[in-house]
Amino acid sequence: MNVKDNTFVTPEGIEFLHKTHQMIIDDTLLKGTNIHHKTIDYKTPDQLQVAFDLSIDDKGLDYDRILDMFSSTIKHSLNTAHPRFFGQLYSGRQLESLTSSWVVEALNTNVHTYECGPVFTLTENYVIKKLTEKLGFLDGDGIFLPGGTMCNFCALHLARFAYDNNLREVGLCQSQKMIIFTSEAAHYSVKTGASFLGFGTDNVIFVDTDDSGRMIPRDLDDKIRETKEQGRVPLCVMATAGTTVLGAYDPLEELASICRNYNIWLHVDASWGGSVIFSDVHKHLMRGVENKYQIISFNIRADSVSISFHKLLGVQLQCSALMAKNKDVLRQSNAVDASYLFHEEKHYDISYDIGKKTMQCGRKADGYKLWVLWKAKGNDGLEKMVNKYFDIAKYFTERLAERREFKLVAPKVIPAIKRRMVEAGSLSISFQPLESKGYVNFFRIILNNPLTTRRDVDLILDEIDRLGNNL
Ligand SMILES: *Cc1c(COP(=O)(O)O)cnc(C)c1O
Repeated sequence: MNVKDNTFVTPEGIEFLHKTHQMIIDDTLLKGTNIHHKTIDYKTPDQLQVAFDLSIDDKGLDYDRILDMFSSTIKHSLNTAHPRFFGQLYSGRQLESLTSSWVVEALNTNVHTYECGPVFTLTENYVIKKLTEKLGFLDGDGIFLPGGTMCNFCALHLARFAYDNNLREVGLCQSQKMIIFTSEAAHYSVKTGASFLGFGTDNVIFVDTDDSGRMIPRDLDDKIRETKEQGRVPLCVMATAGTTVLGAYDPLEELASICRNYNIWLHVDASWGGSVIFSDVHKHLMRGVENKYQIISFNIRADSVSISFHKLLGVQLQCSALMAKNKDVLRQSNAVDASYLFHEEKHYDISYDIGKKTMQCGRKADGYKLWVLWKAKGNDGLEKMVNKYFDIAKYFTERLAERREFKLVAPKVIPAIKRRMVEAGSLSISFQPLESKGYVNFFRIILNNPLTTRRDVDLILDEIDRLGNNL
């Protein structure tokens, strides 16, 4: 090879790498986290298509033009690391996690086999072991999947496998109608999963919730009984620990008892709220998942739990794991022969080829990103982080209660304030209605940004007040 063809060692190539790197640091991280800069420099889709050159031509671009393009990309994007971005569950940035993902990107390898990802398979195994221990799954296993949605899909798949492992070969056509129970506040991926996996969305039964958005065990019990009376199979309960809108934790202990009673799978979707397991103060919210006495495994209550670390902990997107109580179920339900990847004659212990535990072939090293953050911060650091977010949410709730001028308003007022907010770029918050509880549009404020201070949340109330003043 001509040395000039290796762009990574040419002076121009190296300069391009350094400049890109510097731009990322200056523009997305320094500016993007500075309260004197906007959360977004908003343009409508029409305006953006004029301001941002989308066209692909016959001739390519030189490095300087590529840098311009990156700069423009950053300029028009949303700053999710901004201390006043409260809009989605993945706000904030962790330095250790960001840099770990640079390492992952640069190495660009897979974690299906030890051969392809020696460090990444070991670190994934290690964090999975730590996580299953924390959950009290003494003989459990787990796998990182691309997002909380995929974890829910896989949990449904595990529940079906546990109900009848023949369905894997013979398919669904001969089987009885299987029913999935979840609360009306659960994430919509339960429904998408029912469709995707062939259960049918009509076979998802929504259990009522109380005023805080928690599943009502009594109603679940009634609905399971009805289902059985109709000769249908109650397959699983998809509970939620930290609902997407209200942050409610379903009463897991009671749900677990019901599931034991009817012998049905209990999955806990803790995509948003599961990171409380790192906090001694708040982990009680997940009580019911774990084996209370930590001695015998048949006491363990949930069958599977999923947590998205890209949410509360701020690990780079995506970083979600599904943990199962039974250590074999992931492998048994997913493994098929693929002799070009998995075979017996390898020169190492093939139990390290963790790709057999998932329906994916190629998979990114998401577990490594959590491992790096956990190792860098330590147990104490993660605990502090979780406690801080609960503290600031409590502070905000107290301030809100003091402000008489805030009350439930007509449906159109919030969208009007939101439009002004986006144009000002002063903060980012998303809004929505919650019809089942009779709420019209309201702002959903998410507080898991390590840079957000009490002053920033004070500003939320002042700014909403200011923007909505003459409405
Ligand atoms: C966000 C969320 C999901 C979906 O996770 P993705 O990573 O966005 O796919 C599932 N369940 C709950 C409770 C969530 O909050």
